[in-house]
Amino acid sequence: MVKISKTLNDSLRGPFDTFAEKLNKRLEEVEKKVEKELEEKGKLSDGLKKEHDFYKTGRIKPNCVNPGCDKDVAWRNRKYWSMKSECNSCMKARKENNFIVEDGVKHIVNRENEKLGITIHKKSYCENHDSQLGFKCPVNKEEWPDYIESLDLDHIDGNHHHNHPINVRTICKLCHGRNSREEKHWDSTKPSGMSLD
Ligand SMILES: [Zn+2]
Ligand SMILES: [Zn+2]
Repeated sequence: MVKISKTLNDSLRGPFDTFAEKLNKRLEEVEKKVEKELEEKGKLSDGLKKEHDFYKTGRIKPNCVNPGCDKDVAWRNRKYWSMKSECNSCMKARKENNFIVEDGVKHIVNRENEKLGITIHKKSYCENHDSQLGFKCPVNKEEWPDYIESLDLDHIDGNHHHNHPINVRTICKLCHGRNSREEKHWDSTKPSGMSLD
């Protein structure tokens, strides 16, 4: 678990002024979901129970990495409190190609092709093509049909709560795997919740 000071962290961009304000809002929202699920199904799913525990123990998710977006990041796995770097709607827009490119910048657009003021941080290539990780990216794009799907967002300092564009880079799974083994900060079950204690 990553601990932060009570002052506002860089990753807390978005509509909230304080950690407590965001936490209270998220607690309120999850309690509504819990109430609804109990009413409809008579019991709580493991995922929602874990999500409720997450907020109850004073944790919040960071803001989506994309400039202009004020949503929280999506869950990768609620059971392990593991998260992605983008929110669900940005991820969907990116995967469905709902963006236009101007001067190399990807702007998310709506159905009318109007820009929504959100840009996509994720690159469509491995940023280690220049060997910035200290070894050469072994991938030949042309020989890897799923190349785009192989690209991950990686937190440079290993802190998932420092989800600011300056701390997030795009690297392919091969480079990601090798770098994380060498830096030893990879653990798929590592809880990434930020708490206030
Ligand atoms: Zn977003
Ligand atoms: Zn690579």
